Amino acid sequence: MSRQPHDTPSPLAGAASKRAFRPSARHTREVVEALAKAYPDSRCALDFADLYQLIVATILSAQCTDKRVNMVTPRLFDTFPDAASLASADPAELEAIIRSTGFYKAKAKNLIAMARGLVENHDGQVPEDIESLTKLAGVGRKTANVVLGVGLGITSGIVVDTHVTRLSRRLGLTKRNDAVGIERDLVKAVPKSDWVLVSLRMIDHGRAICKAGRPACQKCPLESICPKIGVEAKPAKPSKPRKTTGSATKPSAKSANTKAESRQKTARTPSL
Ligand code: SF4
Repeated sequence: MSRQPHDTPSPLAGAASKRAFRPSARHTREVVEALAKAYPDSRCALDFADLYQLIVATILSAQCTDKRVNMVTPRLFDTFPDAASLASADPAELEAIIRSTGFYKAKAKNLIAMARGLVENHDGQVPEDIESLTKLAGVGRKTANVVLGVGLGITSGIVVDTHVTRLSRRLGLTKRNDAVGIERDLVKAVPKSDWVLVSLRMIDHGRAICKAGRPACQKCPLESICPKIGVEAKPAKPSKPRKTTGSATKPSAKSANTKAESRQKTARTPSL
C-alpha cells in the first residue's frame, strides 16, 4: 500500500518538517504499532502491592526516578502501611523518609492530605473513578490515569508525563504543549485499547532512545516514520550552502516542553 503524502516524513527535521507535516490516523497507527513492536514488555517501573501503594508511589515519582522511589517506598510502607496511618503521620517523620525523592515537604503535605481524603471520604480505600481520584490532594489526571490504568486496567485516559509530551510532539501526534491538550489529542488518535501501553512504551522509548537532550535517531526503530518535529538535524548535504530561517535553529520542542512541564503542579506530575 502506498504511503499518503501527509504520512511521508520529511527528509528535513526541525522547523521545516514542522511546517510540512500533518498527522493522520495512519501515521498514528504506525507509531502505535512500531512502539508495540519495539517495547512489547513495557510496564510501570514503580513497585507496589496495592492501589494505596501505587497512588503513594506515583505521587512520590514527581520529578524523581522510579528507581529512587522504589528505594524509599519499602520503609515508607513499613511505617505507614495504609491510608489511616499515613493520614495521621508526623510530617517530620514522613519528610525524613521521602527526603531523597526531592520536593519532600510538598510531597509529604500532599501525601498526608491525600490519605486524609481517603479516610474521610472513601473508608480508607482508593476510589476507582477518575472524578473521585482527581479530587484528592496531589492527584491530577496523570496520577489518576496511572492508578486506573496500571492498577486496575481501566482505560480512563492516557498518562502524559515529560517523556510522552516530548515524544508526542517529535512524532507529530500533537502540536500542543500542555498535558491536558496533549492527552486530548492522543485519546482522539490512539485506539482505546492502546491507551495504557502506548504511554508506558513512549516512556520506555524516551528513556532509551528519544532522550530530551540528544535523541538517538540513527538507531531509532521509529526513524522511518518519525517527522522529528523540533529535532535539530544535520543537513543532508552539508557541503552545499543552504538558506535557513531563524526559526529552524531554535530548540522549540525542548523549550516548549519545559514551559509546559513547569506549568504543572510540582507534586502532581509523576514521571511514572
Ligand atoms: S529518536 Fe529521533 S526518530 Fe526516534 S522518535 Fe525520537 S525524534 Fe523520532
